[in-house]
Amino acid sequence: MKPSAPPGASQIPLFQPPPPDPTPEELGLVALERVAKLLRDGAGLILSRSGGKDSQAMLDYVVELLRHLGLDPATRLVLANADLGRMEWDVTEHLAMLAKHYGVAELRRVKPPRELIDSIRRRGMWPSREARYCTSDHKRGPLEKLIRAVCRERGWTTAIHAMGERAQESPMRRKLALTPMELHDKLTVTRTVKASDGPPGFGPARTVWVWHPIVLLTIDEVWARIKRSGLEAHPVYAAGMRRLSCKACVFASKNDLRVSRALDPTFFAEAVALEREIGHTIRPGFSLAELDDSPDDGAAGPP
Ligand code: SF4
Repeated sequence: MKPSAPPGASQIPLFQPPPPDPTPEELGLVALERVAKLLRDGAGLILSRSGGKDSQAMLDYVVELLRHLGLDPATRLVLANADLGRMEWDVTEHLAMLAKHYGVAELRRVKPPRELIDSIRRRGMWPSREARYCTSDHKRGPLEKLIRAVCRERGWTTAIHAMGERAQESPMRRKLALTPMELHDKLTVTRTVKASDGPPGFGPARTVWVWHPIVLLTIDEVWARIKRSGLEAHPVYAAGMRRLSCKACVFASKNDLRVSRALDPTFFAEAVALEREIGHTIRPGFSLAELDDSPDDGAAGPP
């Protein structure tokens, strides 16, 4: 006898199309729920602060989240800043004002072994898209060291490192919207669990997550959030800079470099002299010494 088909079998399609990929908005929401759970379970939050508009909006957002969860920024949030020396704008006062306003008790600044301008002199070359040592050696590396120290001092076995990149800034950063949260391989470590501490094997000694909370925010939304907070952005924006980048950032537009020269002519003269000294210009085919009144090249923003 032929086996009878289960009821409704004729309605089951032979081919089920795969479910659509989650949208960046859905991925952002999943990350947010995960972060909220980690925070409720006692994780610490370390926020990279450059002093720029994006990290200011991120701080506002993150503090709103902590308060929504009933958590105190004074105990659960640390602001971290990598000090690039005289290459960058003074952010001391601005960061202190933000920390006070948002009730953050700890603002940590980390100094790499040498200033960025001295690294350029030593290497005899400016950073570039291919050799972006300004970020790896002067920001990322020192911040990783700082995160280890903060976790040790505060006894945090789980920490979330929040970073303020936005998809709108560049094609590279757009990709971050697909991974708004991921494990930090380098900072996450496991330990051997002895039999006396439970079932022997391996367990997490420190878990660090990287989270991009404002990756989907547009520039208008960033400014709107800052406006709503009632606080000022760093004064270089009012002076005409589009980014709070280094004073002579290799990715800065000509307009930003012109504003930078007007705001700190002494540093700018040093940067021009450095180009001559090392025989290498800030960008291929463009020297700071040639910065004239030509139209803006629109080259503002990270790769
Ligand atoms: S602002 Fe520009 S020069 Fe400075 S660290 Fe960032 S990419 Fe490098």
